[in-house]
Amino acid sequence: TRTLVWFRDDLRTADHEALLQACERAENPGDVVGLYVLDEVSPGVRPLGGAARWWLHHALESLQQNLAALGIVLLLRRGDPAELLLGLAQELGAERVHWSRRYGGGERAVDAGIKAALPEHGIAVESFNASLLHEPWTVQTNTGGPYKVYTPFWRQISAREPGLPRPRPVPLGPVEAAHRRLPELSQGPGELEDWQLLPTSPDWAGGLRRNWTPTEAGGHARLKEFLATQVQDYDDARDVPADDDTSRLSPYLRFGQLSPRQVWEAAQQQSPESVGTFLSEIGWREFCWHLLFHFPQLPHTNLRPQFDAYPWRSRDDSPEEFMAWAQGRTGFPWVDAGQRQLWETGHMHNRVRMASASLLIKNLGIDWREGEAWFWDTLVDADAASNPANWQWVAGCGMDAAPYFRIFNPQRQRERFDPESRYVSTWIPELNTGEYPAPIIDLKTTREEALAHYSQISGRG
Ligand code: FAD
Repeated sequence: TRTLVWFRDDLRTADHEALLQACERAENPGDVVGLYVLDEVSPGVRPLGGAARWWLHHALESLQQNLAALGIVLLLRRGDPAELLLGLAQELGAERVHWSRRYGGGERAVDAGIKAALPEHGIAVESFNASLLHEPWTVQTNTGGPYKVYTPFWRQISAREPGLPRPRPVPLGPVEAAHRRLPELSQGPGELEDWQLLPTSPDWAGGLRRNWTPTEAGGHARLKEFLATQVQDYDDARDVPADDDTSRLSPYLRFGQLSPRQVWEAAQQQSPESVGTFLSEIGWREFCWHLLFHFPQLPHTNLRPQFDAYPWRSRDDSPEEFMAWAQGRTGFPWVDAGQRQLWETGHMHNRVRMASASLLIKNLGIDWREGEAWFWDTLVDADAASNPANWQWVAGCGMDAAPYFRIFNPQRQRERFDPESRYVSTWIPELNTGEYPAPIIDLKTTREEALAHYSQISGRG
């Protein structure tokens, strides 16, 4: 039987159950066909930001090559996945469609619709886990609901064998040279270039190219290097942005070029003490997806409704302050360095992300959703769960959020985590010159204003 494997946020060939099971069923070359759909039309599916589009282009190129080595063609299509899948399955004579599950509200609605429709045309659909250590519905509190607090969530899942199966290699034999056996399609395989995912004028992606190898092999190499040389010191080193000693695995996990199970398995080869803190960060990723699954409004709605009354300003209300933040011109070197690092490399160190978000929300008084949207466009790791969950965490309106009175002080953060100014001077060459701006707001007054707003809304809702 021929199987169409629909790739989404799982752009890898290793440790991929949907692909593996399709290959195991295959009897003849050409029985497995891959598909990626650039979906910019389904309601509730958020179009990718610029940095993520850049990454996606390379991830698809890498996937195409890796599938070709297995004799599998990756078809590229743009449009409505429901229509495309049915049409292609019929043209190909595919009896089955496989995919890895997604967890956002909009994506689940799309998938559920297709899962209900295809069997009416004699096409079976099977979905698999590829992105999380544990399916969100398998992790519950003692009273049966979803976790809203991270620590007991992690306590429960870190003690369990992951639900995501252990990595197995894809069998090669029956699928070799598949492309020669495909029927003639009404539309060819599709050209990645036509999607124009890469920026051209201006080409702002130089820093991304210099900083990343956005391929499946690149993800494995990074994981190997991190576990061999950096994880042992992660506990302390992760707080020093100048040293860049965190794993930088987030975009590989975002696009599914690495699975959390592969990371988990590789970490088990190290001593438990040396990988505990690192794995608990992978646990935060799981927690964010758990929240998105159970609270699909996470990307756009305060999870604590009393925050709906907070008088945040929009980007349009304060365009100059917003752009000073976005472009790293606030006069607070810690935040400005982070924003410039983000613009140049598509990444910002976690410590600085927290302080930068706090300055925008609490001192500039701008809605967390505006900052979240900026990060969505500029981060290579921007994902539908971790980005809004962390923004809501900083704002205080999320689950297990930072208490509202915790307002990061960017000057103190800098003194503590960058005492020699190595990080800030890397990103702000003009730091000690007259060209660098004075702070655009007074930290103390804006902090007091924020606390006053918070005390007004607390107790409501
Ligand atoms: P490491 O420190 O090496 O951590 C290992 C892995 O654990 C990461 O790759 C990531 O998958 C996961 N992880 C670590 N911290 C978190 C966290 N707080 N929440 C969720 N997962 C975590 N992370 C994203 O992957 N995508 C986002 O869109 C995103 N947006 C953020 C927005 C804000 C305002 C903040 C404060 C944090 C955000 N993070 C996001 C979390 C975190 O900053 C990044 O995961 C981390 O900096 C990635 O670098 P790393 O891979 O070197 O992390």
